[in-house]
Amino acid sequence: MPRIDHALIVGAGIAGCSAAIALAQQGIRVTMVEKQQAWKFQSSGLFIYSNGLRALRDIGVLPEILQAGFAVPGGRNAYFDHHGRPIVETIYPSPEGLPAIVGIKRAELHRVLASRIDELGITLKLGTTALRLPRPDAGEALPVALSDGSHGRFDLVIGADGIRSQVRAEVFPAVTPVYSGFGVWRSVHDRPAGLDAKIMMMGIGKRLGIMPISNEKLYLFGVMLEPEGSWYDPAAWPALMRQRFAEFREPAARFLDQLGPGSEVLYTGVEEVIAPLPWHRGRVVLIGDAAHASTPFMGQGGAMALEDAVVLAKVLAGPGSLDDALREFGERRAPACKLVQDVSRQVGQAGALEDAGSCERRDLELRRDGQSKVDSFFAALAQLGAPGQGTGPDA
Ligand SMILES: Cc1cc2nc3c(=O)[nH]c(=O)nc-3n(C[C@H](O)[C@H](O)[C@H](O)COP(=O)(O)OP(=O)(O)OC[C@H]3O[C@@H](n4cnc5c(N)ncnc54)[C@H](O)[C@@H]3O)c2cc1C
Repeated sequence: MPRIDHALIVGAGIAGCSAAIALAQQGIRVTMVEKQQAWKFQSSGLFIYSNGLRALRDIGVLPEILQAGFAVPGGRNAYFDHHGRPIVETIYPSPEGLPAIVGIKRAELHRVLASRIDELGITLKLGTTALRLPRPDAGEALPVALSDGSHGRFDLVIGADGIRSQVRAEVFPAVTPVYSGFGVWRSVHDRPAGLDAKIMMMGIGKRLGIMPISNEKLYLFGVMLEPEGSWYDPAAWPALMRQRFAEFREPAARFLDQLGPGSEVLYTGVEEVIAPLPWHRGRVVLIGDAAHASTPFMGQGGAMALEDAVVLAKVLAGPGSLDDALREFGERRAPACKLVQDVSRQVGQAGALEDAGSCERRDLELRRDGQSKVDSFFAALAQLGAPGQGTGPDA
């Protein structure tokens, strides 16, 4: 039996929406507040690997995701150097008959989640936030005032409000995002027929990737070091992205050449959040990026948020006190999230090598060990999630 009746979720991103669905499916009443007036998602796409797809299957939306996105045939990831010379091709695992990797437009993922939220009758208040929270251990149910003038009493408040979480700032003020040193440039293009693998081009101090996100579209993502606090006029983003990655040849060059005024381009300075356990205090818990934002180089942040949602719903349905359940939630999720953060940081550093000799050695290593590194990363993630290990969504 669920041990709570009514949950407030602050933030309707991937973590908030998937938690709303997972909790509602356990019979828990959910109110979700989202500060954006209208659901609006900036350009570009997202990869979702098999572990994230499993969580989407668990919350009942996998068929719609597969219809909206693009499953890479055979889970192929082809590496090239920046001249376009092939390095190696690796294959992502596809357990349980799930696709290995799906690319999707962020807005499409949210359209699917929003439609399920609607079907389940979940109360969603856009343009609304929680005003200052009471002490998280202040009694049976927390009285929370919302910015639309309404009030509620909630058995649980879930901070799913992302990297700059207001809930975290109130409950864990010592935890703040840390700049990673990297900037990511992303653009969306028409997908030529036949370009159906994930592609990574390894340059000198820079990496550039290509990923299909639907039958019609793909996105390009370029990663390089950028000074902390860099701000670029959005109107200049297409020209800046084109200049920054100008040395990259085919298969990326034709897309870079398309960049100009009006192109769909997004620049993001990447931050991480490392919150020590526990991720809860009293009746308030953090999930998703609010608790464990990672650099994006393993493409796993969204999957970690989805898995959080599934695990949170499971622990809330178990026996014991709410405090025990929330403690178990953090302890089950933290190892996988830490693995993703650590490996992603290493991948970022390898991509930022700036002298030609080191890059050559890196590419040789990739050719020799690329597949075994992919296999061991996914095996470690699966082990952290295996029944009996107690850390992942299937435990
Ligand atoms: C460049 C880049 C590329 C990435 N690529 C991938 C990828 O390919 N695959 C992948 O799995 N992950 C990827 N990620 C990571 C992924 O985007 C995040 O891990 C994921 O979005 C986290 O979801 P979230 O719901 O926790 O946070 P968010 O997506 O940030 O959602 C938080 C929500 O809370 C709302 N909010 C904030 N404050 C308040 C408030 N006070 N009150 C109410 N609402 C509030 C926000 O408006 C937002 O809607 C990438 C990240 C970056 C930076």
